[in-house]
Amino acid sequence: MDDEQTEPRLRGKHPIEDLIYDRLVDAIIDKHLRAGEHVNEVKLAEAYDVPRSRVRRVLERLRDEDVVVFELNRGAFISRPTVEEARHVYEARRELELITVRLACERAGPADLDRLRAHLRVERDAFDKHDPGVNRIAGEFHYLIASIAGNPVIEKMLAVLIRRGVLIQSVYERKGGILCLTHEHERMVEHIAERRPQDAMDEMLHHFEHILASLDLSETRRLEADIYEFLRD
Ligand SMILES: [Zn+2]
Repeated sequence: MDDEQTEPRLRGKHPIEDLIYDRLVDAIIDKHLRAGEHVNEVKLAEAYDVPRSRVRRVLERLRDEDVVVFELNRGAFISRPTVEEARHVYEARRELELITVRLACERAGPADLDRLRAHLRVERDAFDKHDPGVNRIAGEFHYLIASIAGNPVIEKMLAVLIRRGVLIQSVYERKGGILCLTHEHERMVEHIAERRPQDAMDEMLHHFEHILASLDLSETRRLEADIYEFLRD
């Protein structure tokens, strides 16, 4: 795997736009930006010393990924996924990740296994220390599996779903809920190393049951979301 695949931040023809994009996604992960919140195009352009048109392009990219919505005369807002959208996104993500983990079992070479194990050491450390960045680090595991699967089409689709998942998590996660359990990632890597696709897929399925259980997609939350939508209209 080359550097381009391990370092998505360096991709693309417009590095400053990629940077702003990554910073906005990070701000959602870290909850500095929340669902429904206004994104100030002018301030962003000033902060990065770029024309507004470039910030606009970043926001349009996020809109195309359903992370941002534009409202007439009001500007850009972080979108607020409904319970139904949340269920659909996670279902789609689970099905794609069953494919990526199976392909990773077939295609992972020694260097890929080294990358996975190096990642797990960092993730284990963050998990044990209750590092507040643990969800972000654990999320990287899923990108890594997708890149090892070696299918850029699936990788791109999944990246969009993972980002929407971050937003869903910021709205619906249960208090103190932890999204990814590191020991499940560790078991998946063992299955990949031993080339056991069925076991790896079973573990991924189990992993998604836990991820969904960490979200509150109940009727109450559905009503709260609806009321919010109602107030905004
Ligand atoms: Zn995970």
